[in-house]
Formats: sequence, structure tokens, C-alpha cells
Amino acid sequence: MRQVYLDYSATTPVKKDVLDAMIPYFTEFYGNPSSLYSVSEPSKEAIVTARGQVASLINADAKEVFFTSGGTEADNWAIMGVADALKNKGNHIITTKIEHHAVLHTCEFLEKHGYEVTYLDVDSEGRVRPEDLKAAIKDSTILVSVMFVNNEIGTVQPIKELAAIAKEHGVLFHTDAVQAFGQLPINVDECNIDMLSASGHKLNGPKGIGFLYIRKGLKLRSFIHGGAQERARRAGTENVPGIVGLGKAAELANIHLEERMKHNQEIRDALMEKVTSNIKDSYVHGSMENRLPNNIHFRFSGIEGESLILRLDKKGINGATGSACSSKSLSPSYVLSALGLADADIHGSLRLSLGTENSLEDVDTVVDTLEEIVATLRTMSPIWDNEKNASIAFDESSFTSH
Ligand SMILES: *Cc1c(COP(=O)(O)O)cnc(C)c1O
Repeated sequence: MRQVYLDYSATTPVKKDVLDAMIPYFTEFYGNPSSLYSVSEPSKEAIVTARGQVASLINADAKEVFFTSGGTEADNWAIMGVADALKNKGNHIITTKIEHHAVLHTCEFLEKHGYEVTYLDVDSEGRVRPEDLKAAIKDSTILVSVMFVNNEIGTVQPIKELAAIAKEHGVLFHTDAVQAFGQLPINVDECNIDMLSASGHKLNGPKGIGFLYIRKGLKLRSFIHGGAQERARRAGTENVPGIVGLGKAAELANIHLEERMKHNQEIRDALMEKVTSNIKDSYVHGSMENRLPNNIHFRFSGIEGESLILRLDKKGINGATGSACSSKSLSPSYVLSALGLADADIHGSLRLSLGTENSLEDVDTVVDTLEEIVATLRTMSPIWDNEKNASIAFDESSFTSH
């Protein structure tokens, strides 16, 4: 059976070149970068190289890159760090309803400790309206945190516009760019981004490594307390093999960025076209214009996402759903709810996210399998007939339908 992995937004395989670059730092070059003797020179140098590789992918200075244990820690650090550093200036933070839990749960934690958080709504495509941000900023606002790209629906936010508004009001701007890093061109200077989080394992790098970009001059205190690693900003012996892997993955992404975007978009568009024309009552969520090249988000009326995922898995195809009971959660996706979708519509959702290992040959396999499974599930569905009868009453105008 042919295995077609289509869940690159969850994680990605480590590229062979990335692994090859990492291996010597487990065995041969094992020196602690903080040690003074020559055995540790190669690890020290490797960190310098990786910092440069990462920085050049976002047009930052290498000194502005601080390695962390991943995207989650970087998000925690940025938000908690600003909350602490500016606690005498104000206690108000602005974010959105569709952030990753790494941001949302950190904000919820701060709410329990005297901070006030505004969660901005998004439009039906998942975009933050700049005028909403403008209206939410007040004298006590110390931070705006808006994700670069949403991990479920792939919507790209108007980051440049939003960050400009924050800057105009003298408020710091953080973006969770985990899904965008290595998938889209990012320029922290052009966009006035003060802090940016990213992770290794979403761009064919290893898990357990990421970084926080902190604009020069911005004083964020250490989030992990201990030794003086990362210029006394992030304690703990450096994950040298992980850092080398992240650096290599960033270098490869930098070289192949346009080619990768084109590759993903070509497969994505073919998949969208074939699925929506072959399977009736199928829809695409999110934005067509402002969308990550590798993201597809479908809805199939009358079926349950988790049944779909399990049956696809039996046929060797891996995807994700925002439906209830999936991913260990009992409630339907808060991201899809924020788009204004009814629970019944969220239940039939399917996210397919593409990567370099996919090819156009996957398209037919996926479409044929999907067509068959959706038809089977519909024959078993108690809501499918009802929905068909009531379909005239539905207003589908806000979604692309074929
Ligand atoms: C995966 C992801 C994270 C978490 O990154 P880890 O490295 O897994 O901790 C944070 N934000 C977004 C948008 C993500 O997709």
C-alpha cells in the first residue's frame, strides 16, 4: 500500500541532509560549548553557523536569535517576558481567538495573575481586521501577539499592517511564525516584528528545537533560569545537534523556498480542484488569496471528520480534522468556530498539509480514496439525507463551493 503523508502542519520528516549534519554532534563533537578547552570548539562554532543560517531566513541579525526547546517555549518566553518586563507600564495584551494553544494558554495563565487579555475575532476567512486591532489598543496595552499563519486553515495574517499599527501606538509586536518559517518569505525589519517564534520540526528539522527572535535593544529577561548560555538570556546546556539540525533545515529552506512554494501550490491546487469537482457538497475553508501554499482545508457535508481520518489511515493516507473527539480533545476546533462555522459543519472537516515528499502522483490516489470513503460514510450518515433536504435553507455564500 502506498503511504501518503499529508499532515506536514503537525510535523515533518527530518531531511537526510539535516540528519547527516547533526550526527557528528552526538558522537564526535560532543564538547560542551561553554567549556574553554579545544574539544568544545566544534560545538561552539556549529552554534554560530546555525544562528546565522536561521537569522538569514528572516532577515535578522544572528545576535537577535535565541535558541529554545521549540515553538511552545518561544511563545511562552515572548509573552511572559514582555508581561514581566513591562508590568509597570501596563497589563493589557491583545491576541486573537485562533492562536495556537502555546499562545492562548499562556495568555489565560496571565489572566489569572492580574493581566487583561483581548482575544480579537477573525473574519470568515480567518483574517484579523486591522481596524479591530486599532480599536482594541489602549494606554495599558503592552503587547500584540498575532500568528503569521494559522496552523489549521493556513490563513496568512496581514502581519505588516498589524505590526505597523502596534508600532504607531508604541506597543511591542510578537508573531508565532511556526507555520510560516521556511514556507513563506519573512522579513522582520520590513514587517516591524519585535519578536518571532519558530520551530525546527515543521520545516524538515528535528523536534525539540526552536528559537525566539528578539529585536536588538529589547530587554527580555531569561525565561529559563540557570547558567549563562545564549548570552545569559536562555539557560541550559545547548542542544547542539538540534541547533545544527535547525540551522541546516533553515539553510535548505532558504535555498529552495520559491521552488518549495511552487511545488506545494501546484499539488494543492490540483487536489482542491479535483476534490471539489468530484465530490459533491465539498467546500474549502479559509482564504484563497492569503493562504499558505501547503494548506488545504475541506469540509464534506454529512460526515464525521474522525471517521474519515481513521478510514483514510487504513488506506495509507494521513490527514487531520478539527472535528470533536479528534486529537484527544472533546470539543470541536475553536479555530473553525471562530470562522463562524456551525458545529455540524466543523464535524466534516479535513486538513491536508503538504510537503516536499509529496508529488502530483499523490493527487489521484487521494482523490479516489476520498471519494470512495466520503460516499460510504454518507450512506451510513443519519444527517446526510436531512441535510440534503434542507440544503436550500443553507447559506453557503461565504465559502467556495463547486
Ligand atoms: C507546532 C506549532 C507550535 C508549537 O511548536 P513546538 O515546537 O511543537 O513546541 C506553535 N505554534 C504553531 C502555530 C504551531 O503550528
